[in-house]
Amino acid sequence: MEDGKKGLDIFGLIKSVLFTDFVKGLVITLGYNVSRSITLRYPDTEKWIPYRRWRGMHTLNKDANGRELCVACELCSRACPTQCITVIPMEDATGRGIADRVAKVWKVDLVRCLFCGFCEDACPTTAVRLGREYELACHDLSCTVKEREGLLKPQPVPESFEGGVVVGARFVRTPGGISVVADLSKSRKRAL
Ligand code: SF4
Ligand code: SF4
Repeated sequence: MEDGKKGLDIFGLIKSVLFTDFVKGLVITLGYNVSRSITLRYPDTEKWIPYRRWRGMHTLNKDANGRELCVACELCSRACPTQCITVIPMEDATGRGIADRVAKVWKVDLVRCLFCGFCEDACPTTAVRLGREYELACHDLSCTVKEREGLLKPQPVPESFEGGVVVGARFVRTPGGISVVADLSKSRKRAL
């Protein structure tokens, strides 16, 4: 027991004399000095585009003919654990029954949303999907409720774009607020 302790002390003494811990720390620091920076120049010149599986702001889809896929069945609002989706159905003028049923009101309160994806799982027509829009900050609570008319507009990143990359970006100030406009043509893989 005594010998073992002495052996450990000698080993510690050698380490202290040779500054091995100090040298190890220095090597790590110098390694970071010569490695590529992982800092993202967001929002001025760069922006992260998430993968397709990202669950951001909702989008309402249309079919190839531009017709709304939502049939106002309300399953999404029933499945929502925070009850932040409101659907009010409206029959259109054709009188052909449920196939022509559309939403008069479809809105989601993003302050209460958990981005859990239960609504898109419950939707029988793939009308609702959680998109890749994640810049949701705004100046007052009124803009956190997203209505059908806005959700039917295509989101800036198309479904065909794979994502998981950093793209070029431009920081834009408008009377309506600020936004970061992505340039999808300038993209590169980057570990974040
Ligand atoms: S993502 Fe979840 S919490 Fe948000 S609206 Fe859908 S079901 Fe509700
Ligand atoms: S989005 Fe889907 S689940 Fe929700 S009301 Fe429309 S069709 Fe039904």
